[in-house]
Amino acid sequence: MTTIKTSNLGFPRIGLNREWKKSLEAFWKGNSDKDTFLKQMDELFLTAVKTQIDQKIDIVPISDFTHYDHVLDTAISFNWIPERFKHITDATDTYFALARGIKDAVSSEMTKWFNTNYHYIVPEYNKDIEFRLTRNKQLEDYRRVKQAFGVETKPVIVGPYTFVTLAKGYEQSEAKEIQKRLVPLYVQLLKELEQEGVQWVQIDEPALVTASSEDVSAAKELYQAIANELSGLNVLLQTYFDSVDAYEELISYPVQGIGLDFVHDKGRNLEQLKAHGFPKDKVLAAGVIDGRNIWKTDLDERLDAILALLSSTDIDELWIQPSNSLLHVPVAKHPDEHLEKDLLNGLSYAKEKLAELFALKEGLLSGKAAISADIQQAKADLQALKQFATGANSEQKEELNQLTEKDFKRPIPFEERLKIQNESLGLPLLPTTTIGSFPQSAEVRNARQKWRKSEWSDEQYQEFINAETKRWIDIQEELDLDVLVHGEFERTDMVEYFGEKLAGFAFTKYAWVQSYGSRCVRPPVIYGDVEFIEPMTVKDTVYAQLLTSKQVKGMLTGPVTILNWSFPRNDISRKEIAFQIGLALRKEVKALEDAGIQIIQVDEPALREGLPLKENDWEEYLTWAAEAFRLTTSAVKNDTQIHTHMCYSNFEDIVDTINDLDADVITIEHSRSHGGFLDYLKDHPYLKGLGLGVYDIHSPRVPPTEEIYKIIDEALTVCPTDRFWVNPDCGLKTRHQEETIAALKNMVEAAKQARAKQSQLV
Ligand code: GLN
Ligand code: ZN
Repeated sequence: MTTIKTSNLGFPRIGLNREWKKSLEAFWKGNSDKDTFLKQMDELFLTAVKTQIDQKIDIVPISDFTHYDHVLDTAISFNWIPERFKHITDATDTYFALARGIKDAVSSEMTKWFNTNYHYIVPEYNKDIEFRLTRNKQLEDYRRVKQAFGVETKPVIVGPYTFVTLAKGYEQSEAKEIQKRLVPLYVQLLKELEQEGVQWVQIDEPALVTASSEDVSAAKELYQAIANELSGLNVLLQTYFDSVDAYEELISYPVQGIGLDFVHDKGRNLEQLKAHGFPKDKVLAAGVIDGRNIWKTDLDERLDAILALLSSTDIDELWIQPSNSLLHVPVAKHPDEHLEKDLLNGLSYAKEKLAELFALKEGLLSGKAAISADIQQAKADLQALKQFATGANSEQKEELNQLTEKDFKRPIPFEERLKIQNESLGLPLLPTTTIGSFPQSAEVRNARQKWRKSEWSDEQYQEFINAETKRWIDIQEELDLDVLVHGEFERTDMVEYFGEKLAGFAFTKYAWVQSYGSRCVRPPVIYGDVEFIEPMTVKDTVYAQLLTSKQVKGMLTGPVTILNWSFPRNDISRKEIAFQIGLALRKEVKALEDAGIQIIQVDEPALREGLPLKENDWEEYLTWAAEAFRLTTSAVKNDTQIHTHMCYSNFEDIVDTINDLDADVITIEHSRSHGGFLDYLKDHPYLKGLGLGVYDIHSPRVPPTEEIYKIIDEALTVCPTDRFWVNPDCGLKTRHQEETIAALKNMVEAAKQARAKQSQLV
């Protein structure tokens, strides 16, 4: 008889009403003192733990809770404090200095946590760091909860392999050495837990899912070294976000439990388990409900899946848990959420997912009948959701079914299009443009606020948007930019704007998830078939076009980005959703073209971040991602120029896809790539239209003309002149008007100088 328990890997920190964010920001602004802040954090920590206890979770995680980021916590515990922060004496001040920077020292870098939208602080290694345990947060947290509630908990810590993999500042050849040097710190930390009587610790090693089998073997030695020093503490080695290729090696680690993700593993973990069994002396912690999405679990189906897992091998003790930390989903359904009932009932956030786990445990222990009410309820809710979600428009389904190859392909190749477009657009050499948005000033935000609160009528708001658009068209003409934009003043967010106007999307009021630090986002929910309803951008774009004789570039967010920045439905594939969005946007592209817009930009900044973790899975994703883009853009005439934009330059890893998009022009961020990308282009020429960002838009600094000129001049040593564009790195919505104008002025001047030089050359 298998012992069954419920476990969790991590819980959202932010609180039901984002109290965490509010508390942090009040402290940073100096509106609350340190004692108050720490007290509030303590309360939030205990509330998160209490919620999990109340959901009857047997094994509740701690120390996933943090004041900013759990990777930063780990780095600080190991005394990984960069030199530039060493002079700070106070621990809290040091902590936030690393996270946010101080006057004379920039913050540590922040980057995406695996394939999620959570961003962690990148640990900075340097050879002078004195490795030592400055703090045992796991122990402190354990004591705190024990004192408050008298319960056992499971401290969580990032493991040595993953920690070093996520860090920077060392050569690849040094990685193993650094991991080894961390072992004594882990031993000390774990021994202290052991002495305290802690039963289980969860060591997170998600990086093992992308590790080579040699690395999985090498990392085993770290765990051997740790195991040699422990006698009573049980270690759960936790992986998530995908399967582990070196499964046999992994299950032979000298640990007492192994955590595997059975949701995001594409079925591979289960295959391995069936093929190779699972050691009887270890606990299997199985991720059985989706910790990344927001949909109610079909308990019946999950119960069968767990039973199948149990029947495939002899397991002594099974923990059922979410596939990963619930950090990536909202805390709980908010009592004031305004969504329609059938949609709301189909949702399940962190707290609700824990209740589902409890029901599953009951079902496993006492049989399906014991939870038949829960099973029926889940089925009914999911059924109602499906009904609610079914689009009335069967026409679009028909259209999708009838798509053929030619719908994904422009009729003639790029080189021929280029000639036609050059003729019809009449642009100068090295045309200048921007990426789309202009400053979202306080006035713009206030206007939107007033309109949203119905203090302003639609007409009043539109009048304001038009005035702002006109003002910026005048500015752009004054600057003598070549291809203008309307400025995107009507948009708060590049995905939300389209989601609100397409069928199939819902927007919540309270379903926040942490993106980085105190910043939280509410991803749109794709619950049904995405469909075009009516033109979304035509009015504003055409308004701008009528004000000028220059080309105004239409501006859309691409299908892959819209998908990647949303919570997608899970009853159809991501590819299908991307195609639905692509087909809807295709109609928008057509509508813009019909209205006389000759240049249309389809932004795909999130294309690369949708890459699966394992390289083997890349091709499949990249193929349909490019298809979705081409579905959006291929219906136009030959003389309509399609642009795309991405916020990164080193596109080495996806260069074939970029080509495959068959956009006439791609603009990308470049100014921070320090020439590395040009070296790449030298060896791998990119032959379609290319606009390398010539200045950094993340900083208020106004780049001098000579500096921009130099970047253009260097770029032209490797990029074909007749298809090179001059533009900033990205949209300008976060900048102020004065600096924007000043920087663009220099950019246009630099482009003109470069143009003059070119004309002398010929
Ligand atoms: N067109 C968008 C803008 O200019 C692009 C934003 C982005 O690349 N993330 O703001
Ligand atoms: Zn960008």
